[in-house]
Amino acid sequence: MSTQLELARRGEITSLMQEVAQDEGVSPEFVMAGIAQGKIVIPNNINRRAKAVGIGKGLKTKVNASIGTSSDIVNLEMELEKARVAEQYGADTLMELSTGGDLDMIRQRVLKEINLPVGNVPLYQAAIYSIREYGSVVKMKEDFIFEVMEKQLQDGLSFMAVHCGINTITLERLRKQGYRHGGMVSRGGAFMTAWMTHNEKENPLYSRFDRVVELFKKYDAVLSLGNGMRAGAIHDSTDRAQIQELIINSELAKQAQDEGVQVIVEGPGHIPIDEIEANVILQKRLSNEAPFYMLGPITTDVAPGYDHITAAIGAALSSAYGADFICYVTPPEHLALPYPEDVKEGVTSARIAAHIGDMVKYKHRDRDLAMGHARRELDWEKQFALAITSEKARAIHEERKPADPGTCTMCGEYCALKIVNELFPGCNK
Ligand code: SF4
Repeated sequence: MSTQLELARRGEITSLMQEVAQDEGVSPEFVMAGIAQGKIVIPNNINRRAKAVGIGKGLKTKVNASIGTSSDIVNLEMELEKARVAEQYGADTLMELSTGGDLDMIRQRVLKEINLPVGNVPLYQAAIYSIREYGSVVKMKEDFIFEVMEKQLQDGLSFMAVHCGINTITLERLRKQGYRHGGMVSRGGAFMTAWMTHNEKENPLYSRFDRVVELFKKYDAVLSLGNGMRAGAIHDSTDRAQIQELIINSELAKQAQDEGVQVIVEGPGHIPIDEIEANVILQKRLSNEAPFYMLGPITTDVAPGYDHITAAIGAALSSAYGADFICYVTPPEHLALPYPEDVKEGVTSARIAAHIGDMVKYKHRDRDLAMGHARRELDWEKQFALAITSEKARAIHEERKPADPGTCTMCGEYCALKIVNELFPGCNK
């Protein structure tokens, strides 16, 4: 069976490409050409037909929401609710990142619960099950990593973040650099670094990359090359280890694409806003414009409790500079496992950021123009309909009822818009 990439290269337009084109308001040929060039991907799996979502150049910036149990909190019903909330509030994809409980069962339940493409990090299960069995991640068997990956793909995952780019060269950069102000924050990266260091062996996901490619090709899933060296603190951003991993990931991206596998390349992490543009340019240049999945980025380290905001600022800039896919961040980032309410906040914040980015990237501003007119006309229902998420706006407006129903309690009877509408209608063109 051919993959979406192989079909695109042969000039065949699939039903997934058609759906993406319709959703984006572009031609199916545009989507097909983008896939053929490796600049667009559609997360897919031969065993599960999810919503068709296109990610990449020329398409709207997409938002991923991540959920999953932890070793401390294993509550399947809550995770299923988080998955439903993510879908309801407009996430484009979901990553199921459970690390506590029966990981196979949780993944299978989440896959049945929603219609979004679902991804994960396969190394979590391989490492955690090895720790459960042998007491340490360093005893993880190489073949077991691939067995876990295949089992997960069989279940229907549409994309996976795989930490192939942490190889001995990447670790050498980190050693020679001699510092990490925020340590290593990627769980997959930490597991693999510990395994490689203890066993004095190359990362099997790198040394046996052909096996990784074979699996993704078999299931026509998207390979997201993970960013295990991403900065976990602003002062580690754009460091040698991160850039080295990006170079390796870009080489691997080309290798996978040559074999017919769709690829995404992931990026950091924590980045001050004056380095975001450079990160996007580097990723795009090195990877021949493979879709860029930006993990946040968080733009200051000193706002715990508000990292959905620090990340939204970074995501808006990333998108404006050309990033294609952003991973949401929730208010409890760095603090605790998110609740469903946090997922709602995270998805909404990321969607706002994606929209702001697309306003710059594609000059998509019609919705803002319509909102300006709706505000001018004091048409509250139209304003709620145009809002990215209307629930909070409606609740605030209706809870604080104005004496004059056309206005709001901010200015009340001195509503500037109402005064001008009545006395100077000529300016409302
Ligand atoms: S009352 Fe003030 S804030 Fe409210 S709609 Fe009128 S001008 Fe805007």
